[in-house]
Amino acid sequence: MDDWRLNGQEKYLENVNLKHIQFNNKINLSDHEHCEFCTDRISNYIGTKTIGYCTEDEYYWICEECYNDFKDIFHWKII
Ligand SMILES: [Zn+2]
Repeated sequence: MDDWRLNGQEKYLENVNLKHIQFNNKINLSDHEHCEFCTDRISNYIGTKTIGYCTEDEYYWICEECYNDFKDIFHWKII
């Protein structure tokens, strides 16, 4: 698969568990996060993406669009 958003993420995001959550339900307080693929902003602000997928520790975030585009090659498991 050739896509500008792919940049070695398989090293740390392949076969991982993901949570599908609203940004304001995250445990760790932060102002915003960026999608690991397209770098779009995920936050509570109007005009940004307010829901997404994240790793169990909420460190890496993936927007819904990238999730749908790459789920077949990354084999994510939703928990
Ligand atoms: Zn994205």
